[in-house]
Order: sequence, then structure tokens, then C-alpha cells
Amino acid sequence: MSFHDSSEALDRILTEHPEVEFVQIALNYYDWDSELVQSRRCYEVIRRHNRQVIVMQPVKGGMLAQVPDGVRSEMEQMRPGMTPASWAVRFGAGLEGVIVVLSGMSNLQQIGDNTSYMQEFLPLSRQEQDFLKKAVEVMKQSKTIACSQCQKCDAACPKNIHISDILGTYNTIMRQREQGLDVNVELNYYRPLKRRQHGGDICDGCGKCSEVCLIQ
Ligand code: SF4
Ligand code: SF4
Repeated sequence: MSFHDSSEALDRILTEHPEVEFVQIALNYYDWDSELVQSRRCYEVIRRHNRQVIVMQPVKGGMLAQVPDGVRSEMEQMRPGMTPASWAVRFGAGLEGVIVVLSGMSNLQQIGDNTSYMQEFLPLSRQEQDFLKKAVEVMKQSKTIACSQCQKCDAACPKNIHISDILGTYNTIMRQREQGLDVNVELNYYRPLKRRQHGGDICDGCGKCSEVCLIQ
């Protein structure tokens, strides 16, 4: 099955449905630790249930093919000739239990790129994995709202609104819009996030979040 919800919901489904052989999830290095898409948590649930994984959105709808210049040049230094998209696909393809990585390719050049490095596949080294964590931080700096995701506001909110996740989602969508990419996938995840947590619609404007925020 193809799945777009929380790791808790996935755990429940796989417990109740042993007939499921594999799960297709959005999995990429940008969303690995995000509260919105929960790539890592969903992946870990699937593996705990001994099922196999099909990766979708490895390049996050094209967003990870267009990384900031500094990230791109470091990638080029570490792996000359390998595109940013190849780094993103290799991240998913190197994980244990992944049987297919679905990469949305729109032209012959992209097919050529993908097939070139999958023929003699090299999983990411530890150093490359560490580099991608730093690359995500860099990507999150070039954003619309300079939120550091410190979560102080979440703890201060008497309405239990998860402000940091909402701002993080907003920033990602703004980055995708800047690149002319489709934001509908992100919104698919935002709906379940709102179901799990309180959304901004119940905010009464008390201002307690602003009092603790260092970026105001
Ligand atoms: S306190 Fe400010 S910087 Fe920290 S998560 Fe909230 S909005 Fe972001
Ligand atoms: S203004 Fe008050 S209710 Fe609204 S998000 Fe901030 S702390 Fe929560």
C-alpha cells in the first residue's frame, strides 16, 4: 500500500494487517526527521514489522535536485559529476529493506542520470550522510520565516499549538513555490499533521509564543 500519515497510524495498520507485504512511503533526506512527513519514523515502523519499503518522493518533487549553490559545490567536490538528484536517490536506495526507489523523471536526461549511478550502486558513506544532515540545515536557512525550530513557542502555547511544525511546513512550501514545484504533496501531509496536533485556527492571539521567541 501507499501511505501518507503518521508512524503511529502506520504501526496500527501493519499490526492489524499482516497480509501487507510492503509499504510505499515518501522518504528523502530532507524529510528524514520531519514531524510532517516522518520518513525515518515510518521507515523504522515498516522494518520493525519486517515488511519491505518502496520509496516515493526521493527527490522531494524536484526540490532536492535544486540545492543551494554552496551545497551543490560541496557535492561536486565529494563526488565529481554526480548530480544533487543522485545524492537524494542514493540516500533512499541505500537503506536496508528498500526494494524500489520511484523517482519521477520527466525527460531522457534524467533517466540517463538515474540509471548511470544505479548500475553500480554505491550507498552513501557515513561522511556523505553527515554532509546531507548539514545540507538540510543550509536549505532551512534560506527561508521565508527565520524559525530555528527550537520549539520554545510550542512549550509556551496554552492551546498546545505546534507552531514550529506549522512554520516549518510553511517554509518548505514557500521554497517549493520559489522553485516552481507542486506543493500539493506537502499539503497532503499537512492535513494529517493538523489532525494530530492543534492548528493555528484555535489561536486566540495571547502572544505567549512571541514572548519566548528569539527571532521576533
Ligand atoms: S520560538 Fe521562534 S524560533 Fe523557536 S520554534 Fe518557535 S517560532 Fe521558531
Ligand atoms: S498567540 Fe497564544 S494561542 Fe496563539 S499560538 Fe501563540 S501562544 Fe498559542
